[in-house]
Amino acid sequence: MDEFAIGVDLGGTNLRIAAVDGSGEILDCVDTLTQVSQGREATVARLTDAVRFICHKFSGTHKLLGVGVGLPGIIDLEAGTLHSAANLPGWNDYPAREDLEAKLGVTVILENDANCAALGEKWLGAGRDVNDLCMITLGTGVGGGFVVNGKPWHGVLGMAGELGHMTVIPEGAPCGCGNHGCLEQYASAGAIHRLASEAADSGRSPCLAQARLTDPELSARSVHTCASTGDAAAIEIFHAVGKALGIALANLINAFNLPRYIIGGGVAKAWDQFSPSMFHELHERSIVFRAGEQAKRSHRSTEVTPALLQDRAGLLGAARLPMIMCGTKCRNSMVS
Ligand SMILES: [Zn+2]
Repeated sequence: MDEFAIGVDLGGTNLRIAAVDGSGEILDCVDTLTQVSQGREATVARLTDAVRFICHKFSGTHKLLGVGVGLPGIIDLEAGTLHSAANLPGWNDYPAREDLEAKLGVTVILENDANCAALGEKWLGAGRDVNDLCMITLGTGVGGGFVVNGKPWHGVLGMAGELGHMTVIPEGAPCGCGNHGCLEQYASAGAIHRLASEAADSGRSPCLAQARLTDPELSARSVHTCASTGDAAAIEIFHAVGKALGIALANLINAFNLPRYIIGGGVAKAWDQFSPSMFHELHERSIVFRAGEQAKRSHRSTEVTPALLQDRAGLLGAARLPMIMCGTKCRNSMVS
């Protein structure tokens, strides 16, 4: 009998549940909205209903290994609780593993969403050919995840990978974490929105001012379009994104010398605009990156590359969790 696992990608906006087989093929997928305003119990009910619906479809032909759940916040992995999640109000201290296992009757493995994305790229994306990698996800905020020896790396508190809060500009823009000059303040979609709004307000960018009429949020995509048409202020914003990323990556590469660093998330679509300044900074600042360039022929270089799976990385990584984390200890006595 073929085996499969369920992956759950629970975000502040979207809730996606997929059945995935051992080769990474998505057998079935439910794509719905989290609808945080309806409260936690309503979302959990939709989640568990969808898991049961999908599992019953394959119960005759496939063996379920378990359910992996990617959550957008700080997780106490030992206790199996979601400690806090900025985009899920009312979910703080939710005992997710205990509650979902009781409701479903199957093994549930929790993981931070950025680690899930890193694991997805390791399994089926830009990190397929390496065992160790670091992924930086440039979304509304900046997330980070490490995969070491093929598995997520958590740190002593389970908080490893808070790469969005690395200092890249001393005494720079204040950040919600309490620090100043964090990477997130320069390389996230939120930062791009802030910098683009300032440029539009100041009259420095006719293109951004025009774009704001149809896209009041000034998304990274709109700013990318302006940069691509030669708008100097928009180009400067992506230059700042690349510089901040380059500084952060230089520190990460010097510290860990991993073979692969992957840049994902919506902002990564502007790779053509920010990567030249990113690589310039890397070359200037990282002795380990430069040494890797000379070792290219022996396949021991440090590669910095765009992600390949787009918004499926987190879902696929979540489904991968039961396949690699619980071995024969997965429990499956599905509660109808
Ligand atoms: Zn911060």
